[in-house]
Amino acid sequence: MNRDRVELHTHLEGSVTPGRLILLAEKYGQPGVARACLTPDGGHFAFTGFHGFLDLYKAATSVMREPSDFHAMAVDLGGQLAADGVGYAEVAVSYGVLLVRGIDPLPVQRALHEAAAEVAETQGVRLRWLPDAVRQLDEKWAWRAWEKAATAGRELGVVGFGLGGDEAAGPARRFARLFAEVKGEGFGISIHAGELPGLGAGAVASVREAIEECGADRIGHGLAAAGDPLLLATLAARGIFVELCPGSNVLTGGVASFAEFPFAAFLEAGVPCALNTDDRTMFDLNLEQAYKQATELLQLTDDAAAAMQTAAAAAAFDKVREGS
Ligand SMILES: [Zn+2]
Repeated sequence: MNRDRVELHTHLEGSVTPGRLILLAEKYGQPGVARACLTPDGGHFAFTGFHGFLDLYKAATSVMREPSDFHAMAVDLGGQLAADGVGYAEVAVSYGVLLVRGIDPLPVQRALHEAAAEVAETQGVRLRWLPDAVRQLDEKWAWRAWEKAATAGRELGVVGFGLGGDEAAGPARRFARLFAEVKGEGFGISIHAGELPGLGAGAVASVREAIEECGADRIGHGLAAAGDPLLLATLAARGIFVELCPGSNVLTGGVASFAEFPFAAFLEAGVPCALNTDDRTMFDLNLEQAYKQATELLQLTDDAAAAMQTAAAAAAFDKVREGS
């Protein structure tokens, strides 16, 4: 299969395979964790709504502990990406969660970097890393996460820094000073914002804050922006790339169905964007399926799909192809 696709919004922890989760839970003597996270047949993840997903995420990450665990997960992800036609991916790793759990992200990052070399060799997929902070926690955790990310640096494949978690409980503006530093050090900035339009005006404000106060180069989700023509125009004028995650938004309640995803609003406004899975295995999604659904349900043309991949390659924080 061609590996022409670029994915800029995918989380390592949310891409753990059910089989790997079972192995990790057994390794740490907590088989109940896997049972709680998976369907009875052990083949898929189970959750309801955004907060149900956050609970699932917390339970699953509790058995991701040693660098070797993350190494194995990254190699697994490389295989999934290769099968999905992805040749370059920037993968979020929650340093915020690691730190709160008392795990040093640096040995984990070294393991991820080694895994990336292995995946490049065996699967022809280039992985780069986007450590992120958890927005609803005290800012000190975000600062620690950023310090670790900066220490790891490009030598260990880190190309940017992000912000994830519960948007309603952690406004981006709290992290303005931190992101000024990220930018000053020459790293890319990708911030989850406008993921849950149910927050109303707050969701649009969240996207604005990410752009205006934190200097985001890319917005994760950005769904709420679809309803605000002025904000769409700002995103388009500044070339801020929006990492659309339609399948994820359906599952966490941001939109009622894939067919109702406000896809056209972004394209018509000229906002650079492309499709992403967000959490591949936890959501049971892949790009092949996402582009197929967009073609069938949202009339995405082949040209528009190709333009999305070009936009994603341009918005990558590292070169998409070796030597290019
Ligand atoms: Zn995400």
